[in-house]
Amino acid sequence: MKIKAGESLLQYKKRVIDPISSSFCAAKWYNATIWLGSGITTSCHHPLGHKVSEKDVQLNYKALHNTPKKKECRSQMLKGERPAECEYCWKVEDIKRENISDRVFKTAIYEEEDINKLVRLNSNEDVNLKTLEISFDRTCNFACSYCSPSFSTTWVNDIRDQGPYEGLDTDKRNHYTTTQPSAQLYKPTDENPYIAAFWKWWPELSKSLSELRVTGGEPLLSPEVWKLLDFLERNPNENLALALNSNLGAKDELIQKLIAKSRSVKSIEIYTSNESFGPHAEYIRDGLNWEVWSRNIHHVMESGHFRQLHIMMTVNSLCLFSVTDFLDWVIELKKKNRADMPFLSVNILRYPSFQSPLVLPDEIRSERKEHIESWLSSRKRLNLLQEMEIESIQRLIDYLDVVQTPHSGSSSREDLEKDFKRFFQQYDVRRGKDFSSTFKDSPTLLKWYQSINLSG
Ligand code: SF4
Repeated sequence: MKIKAGESLLQYKKRVIDPISSSFCAAKWYNATIWLGSGITTSCHHPLGHKVSEKDVQLNYKALHNTPKKKECRSQMLKGERPAECEYCWKVEDIKRENISDRVFKTAIYEEEDINKLVRLNSNEDVNLKTLEISFDRTCNFACSYCSPSFSTTWVNDIRDQGPYEGLDTDKRNHYTTTQPSAQLYKPTDENPYIAAFWKWWPELSKSLSELRVTGGEPLLSPEVWKLLDFLERNPNENLALALNSNLGAKDELIQKLIAKSRSVKSIEIYTSNESFGPHAEYIRDGLNWEVWSRNIHHVMESGHFRQLHIMMTVNSLCLFSVTDFLDWVIELKKKNRADMPFLSVNILRYPSFQSPLVLPDEIRSERKEHIESWLSSRKRLNLLQEMEIESIQRLIDYLDVVQTPHSGSSSREDLEKDFKRFFQQYDVRRGKDFSSTFKDSPTLLKWYQSINLSG
């Protein structure tokens, strides 16, 4: 973060962002997620992705990121208008006037000089990225409940082998009814124009980027990722921090190979995901084995030379019943290692909306909110949680307190809860799981689940 010593995020916002405009976010220029398997991009993980024209990237590899849609959003932001696709931030800001949304976090990582340059740019100009999240393909050994065939081949196999999920009326995106072939347009043996554009851009990109985050699928299963690691081993780049979004559930052999690479490729950061504890985590994140995952976390922290280990939480309805056990487990890791490693981030799940925390009835949500609030107030005293971690947990508390719908246009809570039950009934059968025995330690959740009447 490039904020001045002693400056709060709010003070930073007032000093640097507000004078540009009331809706400015540097992520729209300097940050992107690009899925090369499908040719989809977005400026951060909140807006839904949009298609990059294959023709455009063949003419200009920078069109991988500088799409007409992003250029339009940039122009809106410079005028103080709110691009609709950024509603996640507007929702957080509209809860309370001085709330800090992600656009502040995502702007504060860049140098002020680079931020101010953007005001003078022609809105049609292409920009080289400074931070990039890239996915080469969707091969993944997990099939988490809130993920989909777009991001996981194990999910593709579920739909291909057992057919579509049925009766999920609120899932307007139809994420559980098809194998989403558009998410992987090319076979491993085909020439993929998006991957070709990436490697053409790479000599220039590797100089402008300060952070490259590789996601998947599971990156450790992608040959392109090992090609990238081999390149960085041969061509050390001190200015580039490489982050790998790994589920840390790959075979031992790959984890060992990764640990070995961390010795020759400096500055690798690992981003892994989890948000609940033990059997709850294994239920929500199908494919995860708690023992293996937690052992791998210890292993990469103790044997690897990684610059940072981030744990990204995707807060869904089910994780709320062991989220504080999970957070305590992270606190223990901090005690053993460092207060800022591992580093936590909290994202609130919006899609599929029937797994959002907002599907829970008001009384359960409010009880969970109070539980997390009291956890936070006692753990703050340990001085192990960083300001950003506290802010993001506080934001979750506010969200549970105030926000009523997961996103604009989402269905009623009654319809969402029916889909919640319909989904998990089918998930149990397909994945050999059992909702009732997994959550028997959470009687309020179980009672509510059992009370959902699907015939009404
Ligand atoms: S959703 Fe928020 S953080 Fe993401 S690009 Fe939009 S304004 Fe920036």
